[in-house]
Amino acid sequence: MQPKILIFDLDDTLYPASSGVWEAIGKRIDLFIHQKLGLPLEAVEAFRKNLFHSYGTTLRGLYLQYHIDPAEYLAFVHDIPLENYLQPNPELRTLLKVLPYPKVIFTNADKNHAHRVLARLNLEGCFGQIIDIWDMLPSCKPFPEAFHKMLQRLQCPDTSHCLLIDDLPANLRTARQLGFWTVQVSENGRNREGHFHIRRVEELPRVLAQGSLFDNEVG
Ligand SMILES: [Mg+2]
Repeated sequence: MQPKILIFDLDDTLYPASSGVWEAIGKRIDLFIHQKLGLPLEAVEAFRKNLFHSYGTTLRGLYLQYHIDPAEYLAFVHDIPLENYLQPNPELRTLLKVLPYPKVIFTNADKNHAHRVLARLNLEGCFGQIIDIWDMLPSCKPFPEAFHKMLQRLQCPDTSHCLLIDDLPANLRTARQLGFWTVQVSENGRNREGHFHIRRVEELPRVLAQGSLFDNEVG
């Protein structure tokens, strides 16, 4: 494996899934649906999960099916006190700064949320570009169209030069089908999909140092 660019997911990849950020965002999504669509709160969770599985993200379902304003949705659901969930990560900052590859963020969230998360983790300036949901709409990860739009932005037509680091199996599956190299960040090691598996993003240098096409078990 000789990656020329590292493409990082944001949420549950640059910080552990157990941080509670996604649960907090999920509660905001439920409240948004309750207020906007008038669904009883007890019915919202099943409705949201159905949208997520049918459309890739809840936003894409709300946008395509209910014509919800994406900007209003994104501002509302990401309005959480990140300082309650995330801590600055100087170890990761040092690690990213010394990795000799261009690094970008590829996220189904928006740039505003990405900048807030990066600021809270003390990772500002570690990534050359943020490719967000506005760059993909009406698509989103895990759909191939979203990956093609990202590749156009990066002006990187050869997916074998790209290493995607992500937590979600569906995203990794699409990336593999398109020819990316993939690293799955998974605290519990379940639902394995990537070429390589690590429990925390800080273990990434071990994958890059290994560089083998066949020895795909790390950690
Ligand atoms: Mg993620």
